[in-house]
Amino acid sequence: MSDIKKYIEENKDRFLNELFDLIRIPSISSISDHKEDMVRAAEYWKKTILAAGADYAEVSPTKGNPIVYGEKIIDPSLPTVIVYAHYDVMPVDPLDLWKQDDPFEPVIKDGKIWARGADDDKGQGFMHAKAFEYLVKTNQLKCNVKFMIEGEEEIGSPNMGEWCEQNKDRLKGDVILVSDTGMIAADVPSITVGLRGLTYLQVEVTGPNRDLHSGLFGGAVANPINILSNMISSLIDENGRITVPGFYDDVLESSAEEREALNKAPFSEDDYKKAINVEALHGEAGYTTIERTGIRP
Ligand SMILES: [Zn+2]
Repeated sequence: MSDIKKYIEENKDRFLNELFDLIRIPSISSISDHKEDMVRAAEYWKKTILAAGADYAEVSPTKGNPIVYGEKIIDPSLPTVIVYAHYDVMPVDPLDLWKQDDPFEPVIKDGKIWARGADDDKGQGFMHAKAFEYLVKTNQLKCNVKFMIEGEEEIGSPNMGEWCEQNKDRLKGDVILVSDTGMIAADVPSITVGLRGLTYLQVEVTGPNRDLHSGLFGGAVANPINILSNMISSLIDENGRITVPGFYDDVLESSAEEREALNKAPFSEDDYKKAINVEALHGEAGYTTIERTGIRP
């Protein structure tokens, strides 16, 4: 692998130009005006995967934004790695908080690429595509590789489940490499082995049949906003435990060894606090910050 640095150096300008062209596509999944950009970004990914050396790639439709699928099978008896990434990005407003005129026009400053999508998730996905390209072009690929690049991650992947169900057979693999996780620090190589999910709920509290005058009704009728506030604040007790009955039934308990290993990761609570400008941290009693954000709900 000693020639990898040379390969990066020799191809650096091309890599950057290709990534920048992807970043320039404003593929904001939560704004319907960008429908065409979503397809453009998907097509760009298809082209990228094929140019990197895949045998096959397609832009596969869903009820929402398409999913890009590609593969290189060198030997069906070898392990298969599935690379997951997403080509959609978050909206860019408020625009005046950006330090550049156009969030979709990448700027290199202090050795970093600044633009919407540069780090979530076009940059990481691209890095894996280029690692794949390097392995293919230098005949060093030792496994099968499949790519699955979706376009609705930022809106909760509403159509990915169905697509995976429909494409179960070709999604068979041994490992999923998610190109969408973080690092402990820029100089600490990190492997994320699990991710937490999200739950969204909508609660509606209804009250009297009209606006009530405080002088006539105040103190005699419950105010829905107070009831709702009580409901929300009672979801977590004073020890940071979630109070919903049954909530912890499916929560995996990490072993003492796992917790010990997790806490060995170089993590500075002081730097963490400083980075977000808070004086104290808060969370479930009995767990460290790295556990609270990594293995606890
Ligand atoms: Zn992401």
